[in-house]
Amino acid sequence: MLLDRRQRPLRSLRLSVTDRCNLRCQYCMPEANYTWVPRPELLSFEELGRLVDRFIAVGVRKVRLTGGEPLLRNGLPRLVEALAAKPLDELALTTNGVLLRDFAQPLFDAGLRQLTVSLDTLSRSTFVRLARRDALSRVLEGLEAAAGVGFTQLKLDTVVVRGVNDHELDALLDFAARLGAELRFIEYMDVGGATQWDPAHVVPRAELLSRLAASRGAPHPLPLRGSAPAERFVLPDGQTFGIVASTTQPFCGACDRARVSADGQLFTCLYTSQSTDLRALLRSPLTDEALEARLASVWTARLDRGAEARAALGIRGPLADAAQLKAAPQLEMHRRGG
Ligand code: SAM
Ligand code: SF4
Ligand code: SF4
Repeated sequence: MLLDRRQRPLRSLRLSVTDRCNLRCQYCMPEANYTWVPRPELLSFEELGRLVDRFIAVGVRKVRLTGGEPLLRNGLPRLVEALAAKPLDELALTTNGVLLRDFAQPLFDAGLRQLTVSLDTLSRSTFVRLARRDALSRVLEGLEAAAGVGFTQLKLDTVVVRGVNDHELDALLDFAARLGAELRFIEYMDVGGATQWDPAHVVPRAELLSRLAASRGAPHPLPLRGSAPAERFVLPDGQTFGIVASTTQPFCGACDRARVSADGQLFTCLYTSQSTDLRALLRSPLTDEALEARLASVWTARLDRGAEARAALGIRGPLADAAQLKAAPQLEMHRRGG
């Protein structure tokens, strides 16, 4: 087993398949213009398949496809089919759901079983304000389609932004219960891309729990969090939910995740500005064994604890401003995969 310098194994891989997106969430892509990765620089499905094999060889057991918006990647079910045949414990996808109505069946048929859909609000006007596109009804149709084709392990991810959607906690939980999905509340993070981030807009884990205790009765923690980002809780009525408290209670000590951007840059932390150019290595005559040795050397040198380092700052603002992100777009969350 490969361990980094803080004794953390490499187990999960977040694979971004595109940097493009059909929404402009205010906490992720608030700017007017973005520079996109040129298409020839995107890893092909063959390159992605080879890369996943090499990651599996050095210990990865979970792969999550993400983006940008992964459903914008042409022919995505073909990639899912190829990855579903690999010896993984888990193959998952995170999507904003806008295109899910048409993709739910093909993705299920391709072998996908773990699906996470981002859903921040049930109000059309709040959706437009948050995502800057009028697409809530399409997301809801997509969710219905996903539940209908048999995705039984559906998760909903909600980034809670104070004054924008934090009055919808109960409504979102009720919606998740009706759908048979588990909801995870995500603290608004000061990641690259979040140029509007302000600590005043974060609703901390502790406040989420006390608000839910007041409206639903005390949530009880569920055991066995492991390396998963979400802490899980159960409400008195039996409904379970999660909280991802990356901002106020980071969990870097158990982080087993590597990230690869759509253009093949390997990041060992959501916050790091350092990357390893796997695309160049994949397009060189390097053997599989040499590629694995390279992955191993990157992981064993890893010391990252980005969210903990940010939290230790005390007073903080956005990680990077718009000008810095223009100069270093690889810092963007939509580029490296959330
Ligand atoms: N486009 C897809 C989606 O939205 O589900 C996948 C990529 S998106 C970058 C992955 C996740 O990152 C989403 O659940 C999104 O809510 C989350 N995210 C983006 N910016 C964030 C921020 N500033 N704080 C917390 N979560 C964020
Ligand atoms: Fe929103 Fe996901 Fe697109 Fe970012 S990548 S703007 S979180 S839908
Ligand atoms: Fe892992 Fe970096 Fe996130 Fe910490 S901040 S949990 S080290 S990706």
